[in-house]
Amino acid sequence: MTQIPVIQNPEMVNPQDLTAKTNLLGMSKAELSQFFADLGEKPFRATQVMKWIYQFGVTDFYQMTNLSKKLQQTLDEVATVSPPTVKFKQFSEDGTRKWVFEVAGGSLVETVLIPADDNKQFGRKTLCISSQVGCALDCSFCSTGKQGFERDLSPSEIIGQLWVANQSYMENVPVTERENRVTNVVMMGMGEPLLNYEPVVASMSLMLDDFGFGLSKRRVTLSTSGIVPKMYELAKDIDVALAISLHAPNDELRNELVPINKKYPLKELIAAAKSYVYDENPRHKKHVTIEYVMLKDVNDTDEHARQLVNLLKDLPCKINLIPFNPFPHAPYGRSSNNRIHAFSNILNQAGFVCTIRQTRGDDIDAACGQLVGQVTDKTRRAKQWQEKVSKTLQSKASH
Ligand code: SAH
Ligand code: SF4
Repeated sequence: MTQIPVIQNPEMVNPQDLTAKTNLLGMSKAELSQFFADLGEKPFRATQVMKWIYQFGVTDFYQMTNLSKKLQQTLDEVATVSPPTVKFKQFSEDGTRKWVFEVAGGSLVETVLIPADDNKQFGRKTLCISSQVGCALDCSFCSTGKQGFERDLSPSEIIGQLWVANQSYMENVPVTERENRVTNVVMMGMGEPLLNYEPVVASMSLMLDDFGFGLSKRRVTLSTSGIVPKMYELAKDIDVALAISLHAPNDELRNELVPINKKYPLKELIAAAKSYVYDENPRHKKHVTIEYVMLKDVNDTDEHARQLVNLLKDLPCKINLIPFNPFPHAPYGRSSNNRIHAFSNILNQAGFVCTIRQTRGDDIDAACGQLVGQVTDKTRRAKQWQEKVSKTLQSKASH
């Protein structure tokens, strides 16, 4: 597949230049109102400026034509609208787009946009967003986990990923004709979103806000490996769809694949999921999807499927089977298509709606769960792990 070559972003901003200015990107409506109040302005300036930033992709205060000349000038002096720096971008012919961002401190994070099959101009476009640099949870099949944890992303670094993705469709479009193109967001990039709770919730609020990106609550999905106490908090704080990375139907196997299960075992996780669906207000019934990565001969047998049916029997949910994305030194293989379909049939026959995730974006190393492919791998844990795997491989080869 032909690829558009990697492009260095021409608009790279030197973070040193911004130290004195307030970044308005990622500020909540309340924070922005306060910011304008401090400037002696009316609070409604907040929503005016939010519309410019999030709906028209404007960063230049002098282009915000409903602000007075004086306010434009003041904002230019004291504020900025600065998304994280785009280090590389790659757009592939099937419509998949990938960005590598350099965030403050020099770390890299990745964002991937995957269009629906038809890749129509205004068709469904799902953006997979990162919430942390690396991840502390060390799931055994996840390349992000192998990097270890570096740091949390700030709201501007999280919402900035969506802002840049939308902006990529606005080049050379007059301001008044600009429209956001990303239709769906999944917090399924690098990191565990519920371990960076406040910035993630603040960013999702901007995604839903009518003056922000105005996405519908069904089209914003937070994916978690199961941080149980935070799932209860989330249900109270914001109405978004929840995906739970289950990956195993019993505690013994889940302890191995998703080690956080030792802290929050399946019984507690399923109870939290049920409580998320059945909010105290029945009109607020929320959506839960169970994510299940298909690892050859590890969690993909008929018996595992039957255990899964039993585990989920009282939880209204959809199940999404994810073919495993191999990465260098990964100790697993991807289940065959036949196996995945047989597994899915057992779930269907038990009455579950079960989908199989298409692995798109493979051509640019951009499938979710593989977001560290080109990201520098600095941590000791990753090194130790790679040494361990290569020793095992060597000893296997010598037998
Ligand atoms: N930390 C969160 C969100 C990021 S991971 C979570 O675990 O849910 C996003 C999804 O990608 C999760 O369902 C995760 O289990 C899955 N994933 C991770 N590595 C993968 C791989 N190598 N192949 C397929 N899916 C993977
Ligand atoms: Fe972290 Fe999610 Fe990867 Fe597990 S699957 S290591 S929680 S990013």
